[in-house]
Amino acid sequence: MLIVDADVVRAGRQLRAGELACPGCGAVLAPWGHGRPREIRGDLGARLLVRPRRSRCMGCQVTHVLLPEGVWPRRMDAAGVIGAGLEIAALGMGHRQVAVRLSLAEGTVRGWIRRFKSRSEEVRRYFTVALVALADDPVMPGLSGTALADAVSAVAAAHRAAATKWSHMHTVSRWEVAGRAISGRVLACSLPAG
Ligand SMILES: [Zn+2]
Repeated sequence: MLIVDADVVRAGRQLRAGELACPGCGAVLAPWGHGRPREIRGDLGARLLVRPRRSRCMGCQVTHVLLPEGVWPRRMDAAGVIGAGLEIAALGMGHRQVAVRLSLAEGTVRGWIRRFKSRSEEVRRYFTVALVALADDPVMPGLSGTALADAVSAVAAAHRAAATKWSHMHTVSRWEVAGRAISGRVLACSLPAG
């Protein structure tokens, strides 16, 4: 699985031009049909049908599904929706209140928050390092008292730094950028190295 540009035309062109690298071995990825279609819940109840491309590594021969950056692996809600939920939780609200705000099931939201809490220190550290690397004069977000809120602040600060450096980043939401930076692992097992 690889998180790619949300613009399917651009992502397809990069794949055909051999510009995408295998996350496992770094060799060139070649087109390899499509993965199964999936329905993603977007903002305000929007339904998005996503039919991700599949690719095959010319080196290790492993196939990788190319997910657009608005979609995280094994999640049926768009990255921006999950991120909005995490931001509301960072304000000190519990999963029930977040679920009401987003009109989603409590169990779904509880699952996101639980996963994110379990890895928030890792996420905070990753995006703090990114902030330092991206900003000319990095301003560290103050600690808020909860690991979840600190991780959310680090993602936002790194995104602001990226948008200052590259203006096109303004058009991509911070949670899409975050997912792409860490291969969609905002809510999943450990972060990739580097
Ligand atoms: Zn490979």
